[in-house]
Amino acid sequence: MRIAVLSDIHSNLIALDAVLAHAGRVDAVWHLGDIVGYGPDPDGVVARLADVGAIGVRGNHDAAAVGGREIDSFNREARLAMEWTRAHISSTTHDWLDALPQVRTEGEMTLVHGSPLDPTWEYVTDERSARENIAALPTPHGLHGHTHVPIAWFGRADDPGARVQGEVTIDGDVRGIAGRRAFLNPGSVGQPRDGDPRASYLILDPGSGTASWHRVEYDIDAVAAAMTAAGLPARLAERLSFGV
Ligand code: ZN
Repeated sequence: MRIAVLSDIHSNLIALDAVLAHAGRVDAVWHLGDIVGYGPDPDGVVARLADVGAIGVRGNHDAAAVGGREIDSFNREARLAMEWTRAHISSTTHDWLDALPQVRTEGEMTLVHGSPLDPTWEYVTDERSARENIAALPTPHGLHGHTHVPIAWFGRADDPGARVQGEVTIDGDVRGIAGRRAFLNPGSVGQPRDGDPRASYLILDPGSGTASWHRVEYDIDAVAAAMTAAGLPARLAERLSFGV
């Protein structure tokens, strides 16, 4: 079984399509939220995800898009893009986003945007928060997004409170998850922030107990042009080509 795990697509349909094409035949598509925000094609992204039967959770941008107060904590560019998103999404997109749960359990995996302790907002970027959140997982393993940086956190299966180890993952990395507690971040499809502008995602294979990370090139110029044409903030378009 192969499951494509996608996060932080951020209304970037061209990146999403490149990732789906790269993943090829998969048995399921899971997403970890922030479907919309920043990018130019929220309706197209939601339609594609609905089309492939993707299941997942809501992120802070998704919550803001359907009217949530999350928008109050956004920086200027994110807020402008969110106001644009609110004004442009269809009622179908609105209702699809509004129906997303904050947490989802699939077999041995818990899916969240931020963390099990704070599904909407917590950025798990250090070993301390990773350890606390691995201990809080209701399942052996977890998947999270929100930071836009691909990483694998590993704890001990026999001692959930023990020290954890964070392993930065790059294109082609494969990690075994059997026999330990894994808390995995696929990175961002639509707005990577680890200095590599290529779209990032992971493939989970529960049968063999492995996760593999992948980076995919896409037409960044076309997305930036669509953002400019839509009147979205220029800095959001520029950052795509730097991957920050
Ligand atoms: Zn995000």
